[in-house]
Amino acid sequence: MIKDKREVARRGEAAAIPTAWEYAPAPESREIVHFEDRYGLYIGGQFLEPLSNERYTTIDPAREEPLAEIAQAGKADVDRAVKAAREAYAERWSQLRPSERAKYLFRIARILQERSREFAVVESLNGGKPIRESRDVDLPLAAAHFFYYAGWADKLEYAFPNRTPRPIGVAGQIIPWNFPLLMLAWKIAPALAAGNTVVLKPAETTPLSALLFCDVVRQAELPPGVVNIVTGDGRTGAELVSHPDVDKIAFTGSTEVGKAIQRTLAGSGKRLTLELGGKAANIIFDDAPLDQAVEGIINGIYFNQGHVCCAGSRLFVEESIYETVISKLKRRMKTLRVGDPLDKNTDVGAINSKQQLDKIGSLVQSGIDEGAEIYQPPCKLPERGYWFVPTVFTNVAQSYRIAQEEIFGPVLSVLTFRTPDEAIEKANNTPYGLSAGVWTEKGSRILAMAQKLRAGVVWANTYNRFDPASPFGGYKESGFGREGGRHGLEPYVALDGS
Ligand code: ADP
Repeated sequence: MIKDKREVARRGEAAAIPTAWEYAPAPESREIVHFEDRYGLYIGGQFLEPLSNERYTTIDPAREEPLAEIAQAGKADVDRAVKAAREAYAERWSQLRPSERAKYLFRIARILQERSREFAVVESLNGGKPIRESRDVDLPLAAAHFFYYAGWADKLEYAFPNRTPRPIGVAGQIIPWNFPLLMLAWKIAPALAAGNTVVLKPAETTPLSALLFCDVVRQAELPPGVVNIVTGDGRTGAELVSHPDVDKIAFTGSTEVGKAIQRTLAGSGKRLTLELGGKAANIIFDDAPLDQAVEGIINGIYFNQGHVCCAGSRLFVEESIYETVISKLKRRMKTLRVGDPLDKNTDVGAINSKQQLDKIGSLVQSGIDEGAEIYQPPCKLPERGYWFVPTVFTNVAQSYRIAQEEIFGPVLSVLTFRTPDEAIEKANNTPYGLSAGVWTEKGSRILAMAQKLRAGVVWANTYNRFDPASPFGGYKESGFGREGGRHGLEPYVALDGS
């Protein structure tokens, strides 16, 4: 019985979809992309065979097809990468005039723009995200990040007036699979702008855009060793974290791993920034423009299949408009197009991995078991690949796991409130504090709510909006440190006395 329900949860009701106004397929060509059969580790400006001799296969989650063989870096490999980064730091990068560093970053930004279609296809193939998003969000933002920090490289003394900012050395950076290239940009751009060198480890399921980025680094003629990319799973990440010659660790990923890293680094003197999970509240007041708010709810939770740490996964609706919002939301959900990430009409792509699909499935099952009411629009999914139908739960109590735990999938939990104070109390009733959304026509209410919400980012009458000039990061178990903006430089500079 339970198994059947789970099947329904994954696959959606198999109702017929009207075909009269069906979109014609509009697949992006993958011809523009060429993958090697196997990749080495990018260390000191060249691809090296892993000393570990270990490899694994990276796949396309929408087709369950192999794309390339990837190196699993071991301790000795990480050591080589850190040595290359140290040498490049001491002999080249930290010695360069800041305006020269800026030139390299501008170059990288421009190359990313020039090659954006190629990168967008790679991102969608390896990660499962719709090409519309990788083309219109991930790539433009990644390039913008390099442009932005290129601008800061020779103006650091203005970012920290009356202080003397200095680079700190070698940064070890570990990133997740939800925005592979964008997270790479968030990590590498400020580090390089401030004069540091980096060893970056992409997530094991999505290494390909980081490996393609090595080609951009070569094209930009960045001095060898300034950027090093080591691939592998959590074991490689752990080696990087515990390497004695790394000065700073920047990590984006799960709260669980973030806590483990913090434990490892305690007392080591290494700097650390953590950007971890979230369970954001998206709060809709009765005076909000409801049609726009519904778009914001959809974008908040179904963007990138909900694989977003700041996803608006808890929806708080003022009780008086509850029925209207839910019926508009369900109507809008019926128009979401789930399927081939490379199709330009697709709204919701593939789940990144089998492991993540199972995790989403079991949390959804817990919601059903605990008594929440599930709704999924009729939806026809491809036979192969990892898919999950956009899902909304109503009748949710705050104690349910689906209201407490990060699902990291296209699953929304709806709760209600009567007063602004109740909304604040419920919204803050979470161990996380990364982001929140407020929808109302009153500016004063927006400001009052923003002050009381314990979240690093509060969006007003919009959601999931990013800008390189705006700092991003969390409170509580969502981590510490900020990325983006002037604040994003701070973790990468030593100031007098620090
Ligand atoms: P997610 O739930 O998003 O997969 P993880 O925290 O497991 O989040 O993964 C984020 C990144 O952290 C990935 O690059 C992963 O390989 C890496 N990682 C996993 N375990 C560890 C660890 N013990 N130490 C360092 N990095 C790790």
